Amino acid sequence: MKGHLMKPQALKDEVAKRRTFAIISHPDAGKTTITEQLLLFGGVIREAGTVKAKKSGHFAKSDWMAIEKQRGISVTSSVMQFDYAGRRINILDTPGHEDFSEDTYRTLMAVDAAVMVIDSAKGIEAQTKKLFKVVKKRGIPIFTFMNKLDRDGREPLDLIAELEDLLGIEGYAMNWPMGMGKGLIGLYDRMANQIELYRENEAGEKFLPLNEDGKLDPSEPIANESTYRDTLDDIDLLNDAGNQYDLKKIMAGDQTPVFFGSALTNFGVETFLKHFVDMAPQPGPHKMQDGEEVMPTAPDFSGFVFKIQANMNPNHRDRIAFVRIGAGEFDRGMDVTLARTGKTIRLNNATEFMSDSRESVQTAVAGDIVGLYDTGNFQIGDTIYAGKQKREYEALPQFTPELFMRVTAKNVMKQKSFHKGMTQLVQEGAVQLYRTYSTNDYILGAVGQLQFEVFKFRMQNEYNSEVEMTTIGSRVARWIDPEQLDEKMSSSRNLLVKDIHDQPLFLFENQYALRWFADKYPDVTLTAKL
Ligand code: GDP
Repeated sequence: MKGHLMKPQALKDEVAKRRTFAIISHPDAGKTTITEQLLLFGGVIREAGTVKAKKSGHFAKSDWMAIEKQRGISVTSSVMQFDYAGRRINILDTPGHEDFSEDTYRTLMAVDAAVMVIDSAKGIEAQTKKLFKVVKKRGIPIFTFMNKLDRDGREPLDLIAELEDLLGIEGYAMNWPMGMGKGLIGLYDRMANQIELYRENEAGEKFLPLNEDGKLDPSEPIANESTYRDTLDDIDLLNDAGNQYDLKKIMAGDQTPVFFGSALTNFGVETFLKHFVDMAPQPGPHKMQDGEEVMPTAPDFSGFVFKIQANMNPNHRDRIAFVRIGAGEFDRGMDVTLARTGKTIRLNNATEFMSDSRESVQTAVAGDIVGLYDTGNFQIGDTIYAGKQKREYEALPQFTPELFMRVTAKNVMKQKSFHKGMTQLVQEGAVQLYRTYSTNDYILGAVGQLQFEVFKFRMQNEYNSEVEMTTIGSRVARWIDPEQLDEKMSSSRNLLVKDIHDQPLFLFENQYALRWFADKYPDVTLTAKL
């Protein structure tokens, strides 16, 4: 235990430096490549390819042991911390692809901003849309990076329009591509009023200043290129007919500052980072269950568990609980109260995550993430706090599962361990559990296939319970007000189940089945979780 907590002003200064965010994107848009560039700027890694090398050892889908081995390494990259321009940056990883799970969503509850990376040839893709929806609900700022400008992609105006059409968020172009693919010559930076060249010019310059009218000195060679003139036309159009820059809207997540670039060729990434650290918010207040707000600079430490990584090492059943610090300063060895049970826990085994090495926590304040070794004390959503005043952070939202499985114990003689394992894993937030109305069968729900695999593996390894799972596939889940429910509404196309709070919901075969139902029962209100 350090025993010396910071003075209020020092805490305030430290908190003001924090920028905690996640990158949301569809697989292959370039998240890893950008992350790597950011880590390079932060001096965390010295060579491009470091993060990639870890990622490329992709595991066989059903091989959880392999997943675990992989995790043993990659867990350290679930939070990446570095300093840049006087700020302390925390990037929280949001696993996608086969790794997609509710944890991915929950991680978005622990950040103060999001960066949306879009492949400029593909535009907004499915996973981006899902993650966007979750971030949007939180009302936090969302920054956009249109990637892969070194390749021919869609028209920039088109990409901006798509933000509004598909996501319902205004786009404000912070900079604008001058050409693309082989014809890419630079970025017109509206904010810094300069041009950033894709390749240095003969004089060795990378940046060319613009005059008050936003134009180059006519003596500049590229001032005569058609790409430059086209860009000026685009900029005129943006100025006249585009969205107005509105910081208030940006902070509320109603407008997204859009940056263009190419992560692979490290073009526009640092420009993005510079603007980002200036514009992105420092940690703000957090809402408590009693409606009170706790300021990040409150002297007493408090935070919430947003993710639990189980079984990192199959030989030791240790778990790591990821805690977002909401207020105060974390002190290694401090005593905290677990709000759910009132129990006191000594936090003497914390770990902070850097991208390459696990180092013990130096200074961790509101905005930072600490990983706590956990022997089973914590559940997702738990609050821990120091001091006398009880704190209980607002509950994490429930997410609407999209994939479903029927599950039974393989060995009917082992019902007890089956139930114990299931109860604990559900409590922990590993999967969601439902029962069918008529037959009380167990149905598991998840947002990603990985959750089922983890469930099966952990049931076997931690609870000695072999489970039989049969897929139901993807379903559209909608809750119904119990007052309005008539069991006759259920059919083969909309399985009626109840959740662990005994609330009824239908699992619709698809959107058509949902629409058909809505037409047939126009007075019935159906709701989704986040
Ligand atoms: P992730 O799945 O979002 O993490 O995407 P990656 O960073 O792994 O990138 C997916 C693929 O796109 C890789 O082959 C990258 O080399 C490539 N890529 C990433 N950024 C760019 C870019 O700016 N330009 C081009 N041409 N390729 C890129």
